[in-house]
Amino acid sequence: MLIVMKHNASTDHIDRVVDVIRDMGYDARPIPGGQRTAVGLIGNDGRVDSARIEGLDGVLEVIPVTQPYKQVSREWKEDDTIIRLDNGTRIGGTDVVLMAGPCAVESEEQIVGIAEVLRDQGATILRGGAFKPRTSPYSFQGLGKEGLELLARAREATGMAVVTEAIDPDGVDLVAEYADIVQVGARNMQNYPLLRRVGRAGKPVLLKRGMSATIDELLLAAEYILAEGNGDVILCERGVRGFDNHTRNILDLTAIPVIRALSHLPIIADPSHGTGIRSKVIPMARAAVAAGADGLMVEVHPDPPRALSDGAQSLYPQQFEELMGQIRVIARAIGRDLAAPLTSAGVV
Ligand code: PEP
Ligand code: MN
Repeated sequence: MLIVMKHNASTDHIDRVVDVIRDMGYDARPIPGGQRTAVGLIGNDGRVDSARIEGLDGVLEVIPVTQPYKQVSREWKEDDTIIRLDNGTRIGGTDVVLMAGPCAVESEEQIVGIAEVLRDQGATILRGGAFKPRTSPYSFQGLGKEGLELLARAREATGMAVVTEAIDPDGVDLVAEYADIVQVGARNMQNYPLLRRVGRAGKPVLLKRGMSATIDELLLAAEYILAEGNGDVILCERGVRGFDNHTRNILDLTAIPVIRALSHLPIIADPSHGTGIRSKVIPMARAAVAAGADGLMVEVHPDPPRALSDGAQSLYPQQFEELMGQIRVIARAIGRDLAAPLTSAGVV
């Protein structure tokens, strides 16, 4: 961190900055220049409270020279993190991984039926919300524990891994008992007690970008999970709020290469919530794979007009099959491949 002093800062001002930095437990090195002096703060471990320095007399600005996050950064760990699931799926390597399923678990017939179709089409991870964080309190809130049990039944029937959301810290243990990956949704990206709790859950975590969150805020949210000792975090770009009402959100595809450069963690894209419109899901899914996403999370429903949530953005199963064929070609064009399909029921 570099503290740039005003051109008229006095020696006392500079000495005070040096004293405060040393009082915080770091080393300070004044760097005199032609116009002004800068003070280097040495040994920044990411915990420096720059507000303490910004308010001092004679300080013009404080410039961070290291990232505010540590363990999620490429500086901390150069090699890509690869997360291995019990069913053999590897997230974060050269494979492009497909997570697919309905927005919400609605019944045994719905979830087991769609899981069988999706498994045969090549998806290896089943998504489906049992606890739904809905914008309106009057919308379908999910089947709760029964939904988790139905997801477990679908896993048994197909060999697919299960990703499903935990919406509060107290609910994490129950979700972690049933899920292969615990999801933290966009609305909860900055729910710090929840992040800390999933950091101790002993399961990989899928962390979705908040709808108004910057990339740095997403990475700092992930840092909470890693700081608790859980390094198996998958980041998910799911669209951010924009000013245009033609789509539900703006899928920020640039976030994919940006995050790949900044972090070793896998980054996937959710073109379903990212667009909110069925006809826009496939083009953006293709684009996300081309942009380097390690996987996709796609909502697919056996009968979208009857879906209890997000039917308008859910693909029909045959559309998902078309998408699989297209992204296989795109993945190969950039030196990747789709994750190997699961071959038979109960592969685990
Ligand atoms: C979901 O994936 O089920 C979901 C609610 O998405 P998001 O948190 O991105 O809105
Ligand atoms: Mn949804």
